[in-house]
Amino acid sequence: MMKHLDPRNEDSNQLAKKLKARGIKDENVLKAIASVPRDQFVCSESILEAYYDKPLPIGEGQTISQPFTVAYQTELLELNKEDKVLEIGTGSGYQAAILCEIVNEVYSVERHKSLYQTAKKRLSKLNYQANLFYGDGYKGLPNYAPFDKIIITAAAPEIPENLLTQLTIGGKMVLPLGNTIGQTMTVINRLSECDYRTTKHGAFRFVPMIKGIDTECI
Ligand code: SAH
Repeated sequence: MMKHLDPRNEDSNQLAKKLKARGIKDENVLKAIASVPRDQFVCSESILEAYYDKPLPIGEGQTISQPFTVAYQTELLELNKEDKVLEIGTGSGYQAAILCEIVNEVYSVERHKSLYQTAKKRLSKLNYQANLFYGDGYKGLPNYAPFDKIIITAAAPEIPENLLTQLTIGGKMVLPLGNTIGQTMTVINRLSECDYRTTKHGAFRFVPMIKGIDTECI
């Protein structure tokens, strides 16, 4: 979409170059990184570090993921412009903005009301048309399913069954699977009604995926 590509935004262009050097190949992902102003998604105390390749705090004990991780997960999704994509864990909204740069239809769920509200304001100010929901990502969005792609941006201790059934046949889910100590980036392809194929893509560390919304932790 390139609507935020501003030749003056040297910082995000440099970040995209750095991620390319670190192994990200998908040109659409690199263009999205170059286009989204990450400084708009971090708190004022972190503004000077906004274009460093590191995670940063966003409040409620949560973090905006490291740019390499965002790019890596997005690349694994193998996005097409026509894909309908569901993200679990809106957080700052940065990953949702990256998705909006690449595909037409983006949905994202967040269990912290304050983060949901901030992300909603931020994305609409930047003109990103993501559909944001306050709720429990373990449930997915049955009323909007099926999705061609699902990305989970918090550490899932087990594969959320509800989300598997919300994938299209031929669809794909990318999630960090594991306990709080560490996770394995996992890709699940839905091959047919009941058949799934799983592949593993390296070690990562995310904040945990927690059941229930913030007022009703389970
Ligand atoms: N994608 C985000 C970063 C995610 S950090 C970004 O670009 O900034 C992980 C997020 O997942 C946190 O905001 C956390 O509150 C949220 N989360 C954890 N468990 C969840 C659940 N069950 N449903 C929805 N969101 C959840």
